[in-house]
Amino acid sequence: MEDTIAAASTAPGEGGIGIIRISGDKSLDILNRIFVRGDGENPLNEDVCTEPEHRKLYYGHIVDSETGNRIDEVLAVYMKAPHTYTKEDIVEIDCHGSLISLRKILELILKHGARLADKGEFTKRAFLNGRIDLSQAEAVMDMISAKTDTGFELAVKQLEGRLSLSVSGIRDDILQILAHVIVNLDYPDEDVEEISLRKLKEGLEEIRRKISMLLDTASTGRIIRDGLNTVIIGKPNVGKSSLMNALLRESRAIVTEIPGTTRDTIEEYINIKNIPIKLVDTAGIRETEDIIEKIGIEKSKESFNKADLVILILNAAEGMTAEDLHIISHIKASKTIVLLNKMDLGRLLPEEEIKKHLPEAKIIWTSIKDGTGIEALENEIVSIVYGGRLRQTETAMITNVRHMDLLEKAGSSIDDAIEMCDSGAALDFIEVDIRRAWEQLGEIIGETVAEDIIDEVFSRFCLGK
Ligand code: GDP
Repeated sequence: MEDTIAAASTAPGEGGIGIIRISGDKSLDILNRIFVRGDGENPLNEDVCTEPEHRKLYYGHIVDSETGNRIDEVLAVYMKAPHTYTKEDIVEIDCHGSLISLRKILELILKHGARLADKGEFTKRAFLNGRIDLSQAEAVMDMISAKTDTGFELAVKQLEGRLSLSVSGIRDDILQILAHVIVNLDYPDEDVEEISLRKLKEGLEEIRRKISMLLDTASTGRIIRDGLNTVIIGKPNVGKSSLMNALLRESRAIVTEIPGTTRDTIEEYINIKNIPIKLVDTAGIRETEDIIEKIGIEKSKESFNKADLVILILNAAEGMTAEDLHIISHIKASKTIVLLNKMDLGRLLPEEEIKKHLPEAKIIWTSIKDGTGIEALENEIVSIVYGGRLRQTETAMITNVRHMDLLEKAGSSIDDAIEMCDSGAALDFIEVDIRRAWEQLGEIIGETVAEDIIDEVFSRFCLGK
């Protein structure tokens, strides 16, 4: 980490201001070479320059000393290590939010000895320098990309260290048991209390319970972070677009529309009672009237199978048609809500008929045109996501697949240890599994983690963070 790094920290685009951040030993030196203070202190003339005060914002201009050209009128601040985001010297320059200004200033900074930061490198330094742990670093990214208030709240709590605290707590419990086992193993002759396999097992079961409790939050946590993958299907004219519009109207914010290069990658989020709903393949709904033809396309089948939730719309005012049955035959394991729409025109489709084909599905009568049943649909979605549990943001919640994976691994290591207690195995075998669980949990917070995993985590960040 000897390099000094720099990047634009604001999103590329036009804005009131743009911020460039520099971190590393050379930060101040670089600032002095490109910045002329408005108070008359000219760092370009080293004889008369005084060092800027730590954390004080200075007005001035960025100047290319080679040509003497003023590039932009800016505010600049110098923050001295170690009380900074990265724990290194940091300089931030607020320039005008123009792509050209940002590029020119950044080029000048690089010319004076900084290197362009990798994705997430500022936060990576904060982690490597011990200011935050790995799960907190991941929380920073989650805050930036949060889709709903709840998602943001969870990320803030994770950044505050709530998850770290829970994980460290479990690790401490494991360590206590481990210490006891090791003492028994290494100093059998000393006057220490001999650990019985029964007591050992009890302790391990308590740990296993805590791991499971944390894991229980994972499915909800993932949905709050990434969105509930939802597909709306039904034959033409049954009310799919009307439903989308109704949900969009109700939704407090249309969260994002991320246009990709091809139609396939369009993701549209709506926000239902603070749950981000990621509508899959909405382009298809809008553009292709013939849903049957669409179903023939492999892509659509795929999005069906990947969906967390399928909302199937049937016409309540007519019986089940061959077209409906064809669509139903494609619905696989995912949770399904069936809307019996257009009930204002008649109620000819008996619920039993649907139950025959989709016994698990929740059935809701709707008249989307006048808004009947939309509230019931939203409540059903909430109960699917929270699985009947109360909404909890007070306890730590697992929102990250990496964390979930490690918790599951740690859980099975503890299971293995418990099994060995049952079969009366030797303590040193049991110790191996307990130690492994301790290490796996350590990977969540980055205490026992390989470098390639750290690189992988930070590669998901955005530039300048
Ligand atoms: P899509 O082809 O599945 O997207 O269907 P649309 O949402 O475009 O709806 C087709 C037609 O049905 C439109 O004229 C809607 O106004 C109408 N429609 C949708 N929902 C209802 C409903 O609950 N009752 C009645 N009577 N008409 C509806």
